[in-house]
Amino acid sequence: MNHFHRGPDGELWAEDVPLRRIADAVGTPTYVYSRATLTRHFQVFDAAWSGVDHLVCYAVKACSNLAVLNVLARLGAGFDIVSGGELARVLAAGGDPAKIVFSGVGKTAEEIEAALTAGILCVNVESAAELEQIDVVAARLGVRAPISVRVNPDVDPKTHPYIATGLKRNKFGIPWAEARATYRRAAELEHIEVVGLDFHIGSQLKETGPLVEAIDRAIELVDALTADGLAIHHLDVGGGLGITYNEEAPPSPAEYATTLIERLGDRPLRVVTEPGRVIVGNAGVMLMRCLLTKRNGETDFVVVDAGMNDALRPALYDAWHGIEPVGVPADATQVVDVVGPVCESGDFFARDRVMPAVAAGDLLAMRSAGAYGFAMASNYNSRRRPAEVLVDGDRFYVVRDREAITDLFAGEHLLPET
Ligand SMILES: *Cc1c(COP(=O)(O)O)cnc(C)c1O
Repeated sequence: MNHFHRGPDGELWAEDVPLRRIADAVGTPTYVYSRATLTRHFQVFDAAWSGVDHLVCYAVKACSNLAVLNVLARLGAGFDIVSGGELARVLAAGGDPAKIVFSGVGKTAEEIEAALTAGILCVNVESAAELEQIDVVAARLGVRAPISVRVNPDVDPKTHPYIATGLKRNKFGIPWAEARATYRRAAELEHIEVVGLDFHIGSQLKETGPLVEAIDRAIELVDALTADGLAIHHLDVGGGLGITYNEEAPPSPAEYATTLIERLGDRPLRVVTEPGRVIVGNAGVMLMRCLLTKRNGETDFVVVDAGMNDALRPALYDAWHGIEPVGVPADATQVVDVVGPVCESGDFFARDRVMPAVAAGDLLAMRSAGAYGFAMASNYNSRRRPAEVLVDGDRFYVVRDREAITDLFAGEHLLPET
């Protein structure tokens, strides 16, 4: 459920603010997030785990705007980070370092040092080599580094191959068969403190089956480690719960949590989760304007002022996003390709889409754009990245300015004249 809806004037609103008002004030393309939706999604997800000791660590990479992180921090969220940059963002947004978990297949010594210095909850270790490196950094700092081993449970998450992460073939985590030995090694290292076990099998998961398979394997390992005399305090089940973009019907947070909690039995494990998309995906839209329409051969094109540099998911994953007029939709429908100005045929937002007729100057909204939207934006084609706006009731706030033209080459330098 989200707070983007048709207002009393028939136009698309975010909470109590007409999106047209935001476009007039801020321009397009612009990402618009709804605080009420973010709050609701976080609280529903958090409440789903209320029967067990748990911590919800929002996956920062889905949408890392400081204001979004701050809203979640105020709700008590923890954070799942994948870089030193994300660590800095969470700290700048007022996040509690003691609720941060640090994932990622290639962490630098500087990043590990910054995380340990900040006093994070746990580093999710993704290789034997990384374990040794963390021990060295922790020794230098004179601390013990809290770690989980991210195991690769080798299950098929049944999602897009680019966002499947828990298959043997993927680069992520430590192979199942080596996990116990890695834990034995961790227990030997003086500056490592084992606190948990972690997995994350993929994103936009539409069923619980693969997660059940993964958690069952994880629990088997927890039991074996306990028998080895190693205390595992928390089980991190990753993120990945899918959302409805079109007609998908993923499990609800309650269904998802109940299914996983059932598998835990009465083991005294704290559950850590790393949801991204399910919190922020449907809490954001991208506003864009139709520049012109044209017909090439058999195809009618709606050319908009946003491109794949602003919203990459359709080009990268062939992802489907709802696109609708912000104004009162015309009765007449048309079949169109909605495309951006970028010099790539992959620069499309919709193909053969049946939608209300659109004319030059019309405002459009791309739905479900909160996750992996702005976060994946780039300056390709020397295009400025969009502004970001957060709506709160009947107010809206620019939470990131649109880049200036000079931002595009800030930090670049000409060669000396001679
Ligand atoms: C991307 C990622 C997540 C979040 O995935 P969603 O599908 O957005 O919930 C969680 N954990 C890790 C390790 C990730 O890489």
